[in-house]
Amino acid sequence: MDSETQQAFKDSARDLIARGDLARRRAALLAGNGALDRDAWKQMAEAGWTAMLVPEQSGGLGLGVPEVIAIAEEAGRAALPEPFVAAAVLTGAVLAAVSEHGAAQALIEAVVSGESVVGIAWQHGIGQLEPSADSPTRYRRDGDTIVLDGTLHFVTPLVGADGWVVLANGSEGLMLVWLAADTSGIELNGSRGIDGAALGTLHLQRCTVQATQALMEGEEVLDTLARALDIARIAQAAELLGIARAALEATIDYTCTRVQFGRAIGSFQALQHRLVDGYIQTELAAAALRDAAAADRQARSELASSASRAKARSAQAALWVTRLAVQLHGAIGYTEEGPIGPWLKRAIALSAWLGNERAHRARYFRLRPAGRQMRRDATGTTPPMDFPRDADWDAMPEAQFRQMVRAFFSAHYPEALRYFPRRLHWNEIAPWYRTLSEQGWIAPAWPKEFGGMALPPDKLIAWIEEQEFFGVGRPPDQGLIMLGPILIRYGSDAQRAQYLPKILSGEHVWAQGYSEPNAGSDLASLRTRALLDGDSFIVSGQKTWSTLAQDATHMFMLVRTDNSGRKQEGISFLLVDLKSPGVTVRPIQTIAGDEEFCEVFFDDVRVPKGNLVGELHRGWDIAKQLLGFERLFSGSPKHSQHALAQLRELAESRGLLADPAWADAYASAQLDVADLVSAYGGFADTVKRGETLPVEVSWLKIWATETHERVAMLLNEAAAESAMCEQAVSTGSQPVHIHAPLFNAMAAKIFSGSNEIQRNILARQVLRLPV
Ligand SMILES: Cc1cc2nc3c(=O)[nH]c(=O)nc-3n(C[C@H](O)[C@H](O)[C@H](O)COP(=O)(O)OP(=O)(O)OC[C@H]3O[C@@H](n4cnc5c(N)ncnc54)[C@H](O)[C@@H]3O)c2cc1C
Repeated sequence: MDSETQQAFKDSARDLIARGDLARRRAALLAGNGALDRDAWKQMAEAGWTAMLVPEQSGGLGLGVPEVIAIAEEAGRAALPEPFVAAAVLTGAVLAAVSEHGAAQALIEAVVSGESVVGIAWQHGIGQLEPSADSPTRYRRDGDTIVLDGTLHFVTPLVGADGWVVLANGSEGLMLVWLAADTSGIELNGSRGIDGAALGTLHLQRCTVQATQALMEGEEVLDTLARALDIARIAQAAELLGIARAALEATIDYTCTRVQFGRAIGSFQALQHRLVDGYIQTELAAAALRDAAAADRQARSELASSASRAKARSAQAALWVTRLAVQLHGAIGYTEEGPIGPWLKRAIALSAWLGNERAHRARYFRLRPAGRQMRRDATGTTPPMDFPRDADWDAMPEAQFRQMVRAFFSAHYPEALRYFPRRLHWNEIAPWYRTLSEQGWIAPAWPKEFGGMALPPDKLIAWIEEQEFFGVGRPPDQGLIMLGPILIRYGSDAQRAQYLPKILSGEHVWAQGYSEPNAGSDLASLRTRALLDGDSFIVSGQKTWSTLAQDATHMFMLVRTDNSGRKQEGISFLLVDLKSPGVTVRPIQTIAGDEEFCEVFFDDVRVPKGNLVGELHRGWDIAKQLLGFERLFSGSPKHSQHALAQLRELAESRGLLADPAWADAYASAQLDVADLVSAYGGFADTVKRGETLPVEVSWLKIWATETHERVAMLLNEAAAESAMCEQAVSTGSQPVHIHAPLFNAMAAKIFSGSNEIQRNILARQVLRLPV
């Protein structure tokens, strides 16, 4: 998709909508007759909206789903009452498929020009998602005519439309027939849509048309209609996203200006966090939609599952945000003339038509039953190959790079440590660390001059993903991931020469000493003191929660060197040898049952002055430097994917998925993970382009860790009484760890900046809510 073209369509749609009279749109919506404002429809046709999907040779624009999405999102933003999806997208997609048929040309011209407003009538039952080969609307041939009988439901537009393309069934199979509204034998049973749309039931009684009005017959009818419906669902998803975004923005504006208790209500943290959750829903919907945008060129099943995923997420987002918008506007949000009603009602209608969130979850589950396979079976499948220590990684094709890395893991990584359920200790993982070190691959992100691989961003992402797929355990890597880049940027030549080679070889293992008993989220209030005494600092105080410090030889830490100014200004960054006299390391057992972190006491520990990194008192600037692509780690979908694969395995072994409640719960988790994968992909693309990750990446961490926790809880439920037992559950093929995902997810919600702190960051820096 060319995003410039998409942007151009968005801009022109915004222009057109802005030119229209908002008051007219609202009045039409409320009166229930707005769906077929002919003047408005004509303007849309002139802007090309009705011609988008129609091929150029038939007088259309021959565009695709990305452009449709661009317009639909703007229509959603404006709560446009005109039936863009029903009479431009769905109809356009059907007409595009029948455009070769001679009889269709006049109809296409009328639709493209905006002269005719035409709907598609295909549904014969409530909750029906797919067009049926057994449609009870029947046709029979009678000489040069076709006679139709039957009833079609949820037809929109109905009253006021110029006609419909109708799905009918006969002895020769299925048929799509054009039926003008003034054909005798038609009876309309219209109802007023909650969003003002014209919809209802179309009764056909001995309705007779010329045989030439059969636009398509035979086997391709079902496929054509099914494809068109899915494209319409993707457009609906975009319209719903537009609604969600506009309602969220309006609510943010309102909470910034509405004052209660002497403050703008947007400064209340309870409201900020709820707005952030609404924002996350809209971003997920956008991520699902990005994937769906490519689907019109994909195979039928791919299009169907993308459409269901996009529809399910957008419906959830729009209904979530519009309900939140009503709530945060208070009573005014509940009034008919208030700002939220049109969006809410449009969201309700669009969500319901062509399948609601639950229906699409179930459909996605049917279409994507396998989920992600656990990858243990990958062992030994790769042929022997060369593993160069160094190469022009930039020039190497990504597929070749991935294959090489995978083969290396396959050949050297210990099978027993794959997908290990907890953080590995140094004595368990040191041989692998040294293997990578000897290979020259231990520091993929470091520059070559310091012994790294200097992988370009796309290969770095590939490296991480291949490790994740293979289930490679994470060694104590704070030296590699955190300290190394800091020394490269802020350290002295002497520090780089002294420490970097030993990080690479594994001779030094580093722990991170930031947190203290009274300095967690509010890290700048740390109190561990370092006083200069000749050529040394004398360090005293306590660090805590230092991951795997019992395995470490050294600690990089933040210490207080000055108390006189702002608390951020008297902090320094120090390197400490943990064998120094006065250091005591005490491991702490976590609820997961492992000694994963430690508290570390410093009792007048003498640290050489040369171990100060950067300037004295300026350590805060170093500590808060966000470390490039590594920030993606905490948003990686790997944990959720693995837990989902385990859930699938356990649920299948216990026959749970035959239970509709379980199938729905599983489908919900499956969608959450799929959307996480898309969102991660979006941020990974930013890194691959060599750009800095934006602050928005905070929402990825929230969604990744909370999705992981939800899947982990399902795993616990699926285990039933087995959740009482500490050991893994056997499913026949391999052990499933019931508790590890839950504990790991809970930890991840706390470390790297707790999820509440991430919500605060998003509220202030992205949503711009007041302090
Ligand atoms: C498994 C694990 C490994 C860790 N490894 C390391 C390590 O290697 N090195 C290291 O230095 N630290 C490490 N940490 C510590 C981690 O960085 C802190 O736990 C984290 O910053 C939170 O601090 P706290 O535990 O003191 O919680 P607190 O800051 O006391 O927070 C308690 C609760 O209050 C919430 N809260 C606090 N302030 C606000 C606010 N302003 N608004 C809303 N909610 C708020 C928090 O989100 C949390 O839910 C680790 C932690 C864990 C769990």
